Amino acid sequence: MTKLKNETLAVRHGIEVDQHHGAVVPPLHLSTTYSLADFATKRQFDYGRSGNPNRDTLAQLLAQLEGGERGIITATGMAAVHLVTQLLTPQDTIVIPHDCYGGSYRLFTSLAKRGLFKLVVLDLTRPECSEGIKESKPKIVWIETPSNPILRLTDIRQVCDAAKQVGALVAADNTFLSPALQNPLALGCDIVVHSTTKYINGHSDVVGGALITKSAELGEELAWWANNIGITGAPFDSFLTLRGIRTLKLRLRQHEENAMAIAEFLARHPSVEHVYYPGLESHPQHELAKQQQAGFGGMVSFDIKGGLKDSAKFLTSVNQFTLAQSLGGVESLICHPATMTHAGMDEQARLEAGVGDTMIRISVGIEDKDDLIADLEHAFAQLES
Ligand SMILES: *Cc1c(COP(=O)(O)O)cnc(C)c1O
Repeated sequence: MTKLKNETLAVRHGIEVDQHHGAVVPPLHLSTTYSLADFATKRQFDYGRSGNPNRDTLAQLLAQLEGGERGIITATGMAAVHLVTQLLTPQDTIVIPHDCYGGSYRLFTSLAKRGLFKLVVLDLTRPECSEGIKESKPKIVWIETPSNPILRLTDIRQVCDAAKQVGALVAADNTFLSPALQNPLALGCDIVVHSTTKYINGHSDVVGGALITKSAELGEELAWWANNIGITGAPFDSFLTLRGIRTLKLRLRQHEENAMAIAEFLARHPSVEHVYYPGLESHPQHELAKQQQAGFGGMVSFDIKGGLKDSAKFLTSVNQFTLAQSLGGVESLICHPATMTHAGMDEQARLEAGVGDTMIRISVGIEDKDDLIADLEHAFAQLES
């Protein structure tokens, strides 16, 4: 039989496994403990922290979608980020990008401050980063591409080449594109991390995380740590997340179609200073996006003309975009990074990272795109009045 495509796997995985009643959808298993089959004879599962049918079904599917050997489901995305740091000792160095997700940046810097490992912060979107990686002699290089909120890209192959030359592992946070649009393991990475809270679950009703490894050995080591420190995901969260993945590709297709239309609309609008979207030909890394991604994703950022007052007016004038952080759900969200996701950053660093008071980030949902554009048009009109 030919290998099934990811869309088929995502829909079929775990279907028709119930031996008892023939339930088509995998049943939810909440039991925390499992009986032994006989004296000193374990079944597949023994205790819920170590293994659970719903969690394991989800882990296997995500491993297949990312092209890895092993998947591990964690309680949150940050738990998956934290799990990677278990590979480091105080002598080891991790290289991280200067503009990685704020929560990851906070975690890496606070653990490094405690002396758990050494930290080198680099701009991985620049070709010169290869030299910096080699000089740092890291154990791990951390990638996050596209970056948040200005959607800069890191050349995954280039970073992996530099890392391999000094024997480093490469871990990629693939949250912004999901396995439907980018597969870092195929580009040379060893570990992929996800906040499944975002596109993978896709319905803004589960906080969760996942880690996928290319090799079975590394997967075994990290699965041991996940059980050891007790960060594995809950059964019901896994159940919902699996349901979300059934439509992952379908959703991403619509997110992207809508995002492209909105990016083009914004690029033409006189009240817009700059649009950040890798799908636009004007994006400085549009060619790289076409090479390493299977699509451009559903996140669009832009700078509005004017100042903080205009951003505030715009953000409170939209009706079809909810003013909230997070991303990747079916509903459109709008966010002001300077006062929301990036509020914890010192002002100088924030401005250097390109996140000014006029920046607005949209997580474009799967609504009708004409309705979304009409709503943005309406919000722009409020500025001028
Ligand atoms: C949200 C997010 C995280 C953290 O995930 P949680 O599920 O909120 O713990 C990590 N990386 C990226 C890129 C994210 O967007």
